[in-house]
Amino acid sequence: MSTPATAAPQWTLVIHGGAGVIERARMTPEKDRETRAALERALAAGSALLDKGGSAVDAVEAAVQVLEDDPNFNAGRGAVFTYEGTNELDAAIMSGKDRAAGAVAGVTRTRHPVSLARKVMEDSPHVFLAGKGADTFSAEQKLEQVDPSWFATPERKRQLEELKSKQVGWFDVDMKYGTVGAVARDSDGHVAAATSTGGITGKRWGRIGDAPVIGAGTYADDRACAVSATGSGEFFIREGVAHEICTRVRFAGEPLQKAADTVMAEVKALGGSGGVIVTGPKGDMAWSFNTPGMYRGVVTAGGKPKVAIYGDED
Ligand code: ASP
Repeated sequence: MSTPATAAPQWTLVIHGGAGVIERARMTPEKDRETRAALERALAAGSALLDKGGSAVDAVEAAVQVLEDDPNFNAGRGAVFTYEGTNELDAAIMSGKDRAAGAVAGVTRTRHPVSLARKVMEDSPHVFLAGKGADTFSAEQKLEQVDPSWFATPERKRQLEELKSKQVGWFDVDMKYGTVGAVARDSDGHVAAATSTGGITGKRWGRIGDAPVIGAGTYADDRACAVSATGSGEFFIREGVAHEICTRVRFAGEPLQKAADTVMAEVKALGGSGGVIVTGPKGDMAWSFNTPGMYRGVVTAGGKPKVAIYGDED
């Protein structure tokens, strides 16, 4: 007798809000509550669209916008500071249907960098814009502009000052990555991915991480899967994490979890840390991280949203 196949969910949405040394002992109950509530709001925003038959691209943009507005995460408002004391934002979005992609790096005035990435994808002949030019394009496209002070929070300023006073190295030694991202599979069977970040505290010289680099921090291909990453960007770029996961799924036929775990182990072997979220065209999903925790959440059509923070939560 054959086992009846489990019906694939009509749609799937998975989100992350960064990975790192996130442990119960280091979290206040308030911060725990606030971040879970924000993850739930992001899942609700994306689900509302997917429930109405909306596209995976619409859903990942909507989910990421919610987290960009929340000062608890390192994206949009609450982004980390550069060495010079400014906020420079990176974001990317990709549609698995046609592998259209858009990305921006070092932008300073767009309230929702993920929406600017989407404009690059849909309303420009390009894939990747950076710095002043990207800011100009954003204003020309009439996206919501804010004063750069909108992004700055006292806590992120304090983190920069702490990093400078310790003078221990290039990066945040606590390895707290607060990048946000979403992957979705819609009811038409298409996947999409989006990622948005302020990068790494104390970044200099126009440093760009993996988040906006198509194939590193963000990738989507209906023939394989959609991936959004968070972590030590330099290692994710060198590994080509998001594309590498999709390649294993596409050519080796690996299940999402195996592909994600294998690639994250390779990142670790290089010396990198962080995590990924993945969904495939059948609505299957996976997350994988080599840090103590990762802010994360998932919801499927008709299901109950689930959010988690620590490594020991399922
Ligand atoms: N991956 C991001 C970067 O390297 C940082 C993060 O995930 O928080 O810019």
